[in-house]
Amino acid sequence: MSLRIDKLLANMGYGTRKEVKKLLKSGVVKVDDVIVKDPKMQVNPDEQVVTVWGEEVQYKEFIYLMMNKPPGVISATEDVAQETVIDLLEEEDKIFEPFPVGRLDKDTEGLLLLTNDGQLAHQLLSPKKHVPKTYFAVIDGEVTEADVTAFRQGIVLDDGYETKPAELVILKSGIRSDVEVTITEGKFHQVKRMFQAVGKRVVYLKRIQMGPLSLDESLELGEYRELTDEEVELLK
Ligand code: URA
Repeated sequence: MSLRIDKLLANMGYGTRKEVKKLLKSGVVKVDDVIVKDPKMQVNPDEQVVTVWGEEVQYKEFIYLMMNKPPGVISATEDVAQETVIDLLEEEDKIFEPFPVGRLDKDTEGLLLLTNDGQLAHQLLSPKKHVPKTYFAVIDGEVTEADVTAFRQGIVLDDGYETKPAELVILKSGIRSDVEVTITEGKFHQVKRMFQAVGKRVVYLKRIQMGPLSLDESLELGEYRELTDEEVELLK
């Protein structure tokens, strides 16, 4: 894959195209040890070595981040009034223009993937792929075996939609219950509405797994890290 040297450097955070042009003009950019000043020059970062001030530029096109989403921020790229998950990223990651893969409600916590790889995001979100998503939830009310059966059979939501079979595991049952729920779709407020349909209320919701990826428990709320190459491969 080849791209213009000015685009490559701008993508990697060396400034705007205009700033990069100046940088090139100053003679500090080399491709395979030869000074390059022409912003239009095509380079193949897989085969050629690009350096700026003698330091190698490690080019990457895509970024894949796992965030432990905190409550109170929205899963959107921008909003006039509210803080978004993108606001939580470092500038050096924002330059890749990642977006959240699907949405978690404002008050939901946990595993959120962010990437600029549209194809991968599409695959993970496609209803045809049935990517399982597991949530830990605290429920106001006693969750029973009858609920487990109802979730397995499919729940009719308030708009008449019948959900695909979902797995409900009771971790602790009482006037407040701890459960894990796995769904393979992503309808609006799905988990909350499934419990509402059986007369119970979700008081805490955290996504702990998406497809093959589990939330890295070492991430504090609001923290994130890049996926490893192995994790990215697992998602593909
Ligand atoms: N289901 C919900 O109700 N909310 C979420 O954020 C995710 C799944």
